[in-house]
Amino acid sequence: MYIEKGILAKESKETAEVILFFDELFDSVNGSYYGSKKKSWKPLLGPVTPTSSHQKYWTDARKVFKSMKFYTKNGKSGVVPSITNWLQTLENLDLLMKKLATEHNLTSIWIRHFNQDPLENFFGCVRSHGVRNVNPTCAGFEVAFAALLINNLSSNHSPGANCEKDKCVNIKSLRNIFFENRVASSPVPTEIDFRHITSDDIIVGIELKKNNPKVIAQLEYVAGYVLRKTKTKVFKNCPNCNNCLFNNIKEITNIAVKEYKKEKKLLTYPATELVASFSDMQDVIIDIIKFNAAMPNIKNYIKTVFCMINNYNYITCQMHKKDVIMYMEDLICNFFLFNWCKDTNRVLKGSRTDYDKNDEVQKMCYDYYIKRRRN
Ligand SMILES: [Zn+2]
Repeated sequence: MYIEKGILAKESKETAEVILFFDELFDSVNGSYYGSKKKSWKPLLGPVTPTSSHQKYWTDARKVFKSMKFYTKNGKSGVVPSITNWLQTLENLDLLMKKLATEHNLTSIWIRHFNQDPLENFFGCVRSHGVRNVNPTCAGFEVAFAALLINNLSSNHSPGANCEKDKCVNIKSLRNIFFENRVASSPVPTEIDFRHITSDDIIVGIELKKNNPKVIAQLEYVAGYVLRKTKTKVFKNCPNCNNCLFNNIKEITNIAVKEYKKEKKLLTYPATELVASFSDMQDVIIDIIKFNAAMPNIKNYIKTVFCMINNYNYITCQMHKKDVIMYMEDLICNFFLFNWCKDTNRVLKGSRTDYDKNDEVQKMCYDYYIKRRRN
């Protein structure tokens, strides 16, 4: 049209034809509900139906591709992978459409659904998560995925990638699963800190703690306390729960030492897996409180992090598993939050001076105490 009107030179006719060919080709494999609404003058952006022009277009396009050749500087001709792959793609799409129509009675199909841009965008999000997460391990990938899911996949486009924004809507209400008991008006913790769920630098690991009898004994004691309360409130005498949550061979020496009257079995022996997961939770929760004590709804934040770091495979009682986990995590949060408040009050009163110097709030309390104390 522009050539006929004299706007473009006659020599550009071939170039224009090639560009138009590729434009229509991309349209024919890119039809989506959203796109077709915006560009109603482009029929190939519509769905593939028995009467649409897609299949005829693809047959013609295959002929064009078969006739295409690339020439090098030296005049040598050759076929490039993109042409071979386009031929394959068009042939496959044609076959797939026919199969879907005959075997599954699908007669209107949006081709964009076969596009792998959402996948590329998704991997782009994972890669850019936590500054530059370009070579994650399987575990690293899993936590990045979990964090993205919780943080609502903050962007559905991978910046710098060669694909368009996809219309894949993420599950916006996912957060409600974790914060279901909350009043709607209260502020929600917005972002999960990547550090808290990768946790490699936060979690000390139970093996190291085992070298310090004081640390491990304290840990087993807390685990035992929580387990005892959970038993009374949740699973009572369930044999399955008793089996997987308690250490039935009673191998934990630190608690055994505390038992003065061995025959009475006053203290509880938690399963080793339970102690290990308590150890991880303890490290994470202490770190969260230390740096975020002023965070609104900190307990819900902690519980969300727990969801991602904990592996409760060892709890085999399907009947109580959910309740046991919920009750225990709640109790652990209360326990540590209460202890922190108690400690902070003691710093404020001046009865505790060995506070954690990295804890902003406790440091403020100490400064306040120093300033106000009567000499
Ligand atoms: Zn049970």
